[in-house]
Amino acid sequence: MPLVFPAAVLEKFLTNSLGIYIHVPFCEKKCTYCNFYSAPPSDDIRNRYIDRTLKELKRWGAETMRPVDTVYFGGGTPSLLKPRELEEILVGIRENFSITKDAEITCEVNPGDDLESFLEVALPLGVNRISIGMQSVNEDELALLGRRHSFLDVQNSVSTLHRKGLDNISVDLMLGLPGSDTYKLDRSIDAAFSLNVPHISAYILKIEENTPLFLCKDKLNLADEDIICDQYIHLCKRLSEHGFEHYEISNFAKCEKFSRHNLRYWQGKEYIGIGPSAYSCLLEKRFHYPADMTEFIKNGTIVFDENGGGLEEFVMLRLRLSFGLDLNELCEKFSISNIDPLLDLAIKLSKAGLCNLSNNRIQLTDEGMLVSNSIILKILGAINENL
Ligand code: SF4
Repeated sequence: MPLVFPAAVLEKFLTNSLGIYIHVPFCEKKCTYCNFYSAPPSDDIRNRYIDRTLKELKRWGAETMRPVDTVYFGGGTPSLLKPRELEEILVGIRENFSITKDAEITCEVNPGDDLESFLEVALPLGVNRISIGMQSVNEDELALLGRRHSFLDVQNSVSTLHRKGLDNISVDLMLGLPGSDTYKLDRSIDAAFSLNVPHISAYILKIEENTPLFLCKDKLNLADEDIICDQYIHLCKRLSEHGFEHYEISNFAKCEKFSRHNLRYWQGKEYIGIGPSAYSCLLEKRFHYPADMTEFIKNGTIVFDENGGGLEEFVMLRLRLSFGLDLNELCEKFSISNIDPLLDLAIKLSKAGLCNLSNNRIQLTDEGMLVSNSIILKILGAINENL
């Protein structure tokens, strides 16, 4: 059944561009820290997954009729798609949506997967950005994380991409690994620099329940909060010295090679996510496909989320970005007339080195980004005093 939106809402959004996220929920082997939804890639399931994805592309293309300027294949492991499967989805996207000429089309890839045949299909169909799950250069850390690649695989993937003329590449690094120290972190940072890529994402390891790492956490030499803070600040400093702009809590880019698709999330712009566990934000509504492959391939049912899109999300997303929280935009969007308590708080936070207050914007410093959750709570408290 089509979604029904009030005419005024439709009018406001109809010309705005959309992003498309394709969740490829297949992993050859589960990494020890990961609780993302994924399923084993049997041929039967894959065929039915592709069929359903094509149906959903048709459904959303007809529903939205909007230009698309970012596409992101995430997972799971998109590079596990066979070339024919990747082609079917990319063609399905192009047949059902109008993709802008300068669209950013990103695929996450696992180093060590067959990139040559993947790119033979991906490049002619417009994939122009690749994100590589490097995580670390240290063999013991990769083994602990259950990653099925080495740094040599990462180097080979990057040289293949460079040889094919694709240089918009991102690599992921992980901080706060058990037993990690500055020496090991520096090795990984230096290795990432040696790849000559314009984008680095750096995530702090979170030990999630129901993961193999959680089950053996008491036996691990876990990094405490002080170590994690030191590593984060150290990494921010080294990346900044190397010319990377810290544009989002976990993301750094050179030459403005920001992830345009991910910026869409943080700026509260619209996107359609397709696949089990994928979320969407469309015409002021939030909805998702449940994390259930059987349900996805059988019915493609979506579930609407009650929450989302309010003041809390707005503040949280804006403060993730180095651009910061624009107080004029905040007041206008949420009809706030008195922001004095918020300004008082911002001045205190700025004296503590946690934010900068300039051009009527609150921008978190690297230190502030580390404690962003508690700052967001304080900011929401100060705003709510006057609502
Ligand atoms: S980290 Fe990525 S490759 Fe590893 S299990 Fe999770 S989704 Fe799969």
